[in-house]
Amino acid sequence: MTKLEVAFWQRVLELTRNSQTQNTYDYYVASAKLLTIKNNQATILLPHEIQRKYWETNLESDILTAGFEILDTEIKAVYVFPEDLEDQNLLSSTDAAEDSTDLDDSQYLSPIASNLNSSYTFDNFIQGEGNRFAKSASLAVAAKPGTNYNPLFIWGGPGLGKTHLLNAIGNTVQEANPFERILYITTESFVNEFVNSAMLGKKSMDEFREKFRHLDVLMVDDIQFLVNKESTLDEFFNIFNTMFDKKKQIILTSDRSPKNLKNLPDRLVTRFEWGLSVDITPPDFETRVAILKDKIQHLNFKFQKDAIEYLANQIDSNVRDLEGSLKNINLIASLENLDTITVDIVAKAIRSRTTGAPKMTVIPIEKIQEEVGNFYGVTVKEIKSTKRPQNLATARQVAIYLSREMTDNSTTKIGRAFGGRDHSTVLHAYNKIKNLINQDESLKIEINTIKNKLK
Ligand code: ADP
Ligand code: MG
Repeated sequence: MTKLEVAFWQRVLELTRNSQTQNTYDYYVASAKLLTIKNNQATILLPHEIQRKYWETNLESDILTAGFEILDTEIKAVYVFPEDLEDQNLLSSTDAAEDSTDLDDSQYLSPIASNLNSSYTFDNFIQGEGNRFAKSASLAVAAKPGTNYNPLFIWGGPGLGKTHLLNAIGNTVQEANPFERILYITTESFVNEFVNSAMLGKKSMDEFREKFRHLDVLMVDDIQFLVNKESTLDEFFNIFNTMFDKKKQIILTSDRSPKNLKNLPDRLVTRFEWGLSVDITPPDFETRVAILKDKIQHLNFKFQKDAIEYLANQIDSNVRDLEGSLKNINLIASLENLDTITVDIVAKAIRSRTTGAPKMTVIPIEKIQEEVGNFYGVTVKEIKSTKRPQNLATARQVAIYLSREMTDNSTTKIGRAFGGRDHSTVLHAYNKIKNLINQDESLKIEINTIKNKLK
């Protein structure tokens, strides 16, 4: 394809993305491909004859617009289907000779919606001790997807830049090659898409599989949420194997290491370890300062040096929290028309952030453990222990849930208060109860009863 043809097609995709709903876009547009433009005629390959009608009635105005905008002429669309492809004249004169001999179906696939967030790049990802290895592994994968580390597995606590790195890899690959089929997807959306397709029947399921089967780069964010999703797990396992065999790049993130994904099947977890697994740890003081300096460049006000350092000192959990505080400072600065941020303003912003949330640090975790213990007839010591009979496990999870819900303590601190469990265990327990509450009316009542006692 010539540069103009590429530009024309990209414009068509852009226009239709705006004029169509996501579902029609995915079904009718994303599966189409421009083959050539000759004599003001755009030859478009559609997977099925049934899609022709839709293009004719709904999409031709976008083709016209793109034609006038990019090629300065009226473009007419002609539709062809896979069975027509044997006619070599359909391929552009320059590629025809080479391409017609080794036609593989992926050549007829159009770019898909990658879901990438273009604002996450390597340039604006500040490197520090805690993320150095993860960043360089990501750069290596972005330079040569499918060859170096497959899969690349990035893990670490919340707000440390995992999603940012995934997108940076995707954006880099996409920029180097606009036709690479790249998909960023959260585990939650993956599960939803799979469940919906399964519900809609075989045809939808085939489309779902087709989409994943032809990817060059697949990025699945927060893979720990695959836990307990039996049939989705199997599907993901198959996609993983297909892509791996074809040397297509897979990148995964998780809040914990593969070894600690205890509730996922071994066959999956061992595959996660085939490539490279890297972790990200919280930024040290210097890195926090560097990140802040980078992020305040574009703001309308200056920071006093000690104000930056004060902020970096106060917020040491993760980058998302740093950004949150910056947003508050931004708000105060614009409300009060400030052009210089002092330590006092930072302190005020941090205060408004913590008092904004109706959490009460005043309830000690110990107190929550006691109340929960009383309710379920177990001791605080048992709650903190590693024993796992069902009644104890529930009491422990409820206590962890309430500690997160009712206090300001970090998951790390809560973990410590529960016999040295790690933050991911805390998160898991919290999420588990949070989900259960919606399904289990009696649990909900139990928890409210305990809550009321604590207030
Ligand atoms: P995670 O996926 O690990 O929970 P995110 O990637 O969503 O974390 O990061 C949270 C926020 O912090 C994002 O806005 C991201 O751009 C920013 N961020 C994280 N790490 C860095 C970094 N090293 N440099 C610049 N921004 C960062
Ligand atoms: Mg994330």
